[in-house]
Amino acid sequence: MKNVKWFSMFFFAAFMACNTPDNKSSEHAQVAKDSAARDTASQTTHVVADNLVKSEAPDAETKEDQGYALPAKVGGHAQSPVNLVSLKAEKDQSPAVSMKFTTGIDAAENLGHTIQVDFKAGSTSILRGKSFTPKQFHFHTPSEHLVDGITFPMEMHIVNMANDTAQNASPRIMVIGILFKMGQENKFLQEFLKDVPDEEGHKNAIQPGAVRLEDLLSQIPPKDQNAYFTYKGSLTTAPFSENVDWVVLKHVLEASPEQIAAIQKLEGNNARHVHELFDRKLYVH
Ligand SMILES: [Zn+2]
Repeated sequence: MKNVKWFSMFFFAAFMACNTPDNKSSEHAQVAKDSAARDTASQTTHVVADNLVKSEAPDAETKEDQGYALPAKVGGHAQSPVNLVSLKAEKDQSPAVSMKFTTGIDAAENLGHTIQVDFKAGSTSILRGKSFTPKQFHFHTPSEHLVDGITFPMEMHIVNMANDTAQNASPRIMVIGILFKMGQENKFLQEFLKDVPDEEGHKNAIQPGAVRLEDLLSQIPPKDQNAYFTYKGSLTTAPFSENVDWVVLKHVLEASPEQIAAIQKLEGNNARHVHELFDRKLYVH
């Protein structure tokens, strides 16, 4: 999600102990020194670049080294993502989300930790009869949500801010999660992949009309358009705010292995690990 960032795991080095006591104690001293140096380095990087993925993984030289993201701080008891277990889901009696987007798309960004495509200012979405402002969509490789314990190679998040938020209240956000499996090349992804800059921190304008969200939504068969899991959760990146209504579509779209690899190459492994539901309810529509 925009302006919210990423965390990763720590890697601990192991070493072989030597035979002689003298060597052993000097090696212990060296290890303690290395460890202190690492701690200092990680604290410094946090201060300097708190928002960069690489700053959260003190020992990772590259995104590929980071492995799956772990939270640097754990929020409350309504964190995302979660494992969506069909058998635990209750029937969602509320009106269908029935997505209606009126939007254009104006830029593709390489944020380092994700690739993001921005909606034009003034875009609107009507979800569950309420008005939202769609902000952007971005990708996670592999998926953040699991379905019945299964991870998918990619998940797309369409981020929508509620328009009816009371003053000074933190805005409700509805994120539509769409899972991808490997298969046929996806026409919609092809519309913007060439526009994503190779360099982190760069942004490319997209020609008006070149990327059409309809080309994505029309890939969902009508009978599946209102089939989804929903639950109350959080942003999956800092600050992990628990103000998100999650809607994860049950219909899994396809993307070619080359498309998924291209996205993963740009953003690395950027899926946060799954969290407990605690006393939250998971619904299925
Ligand atoms: Zn996301």
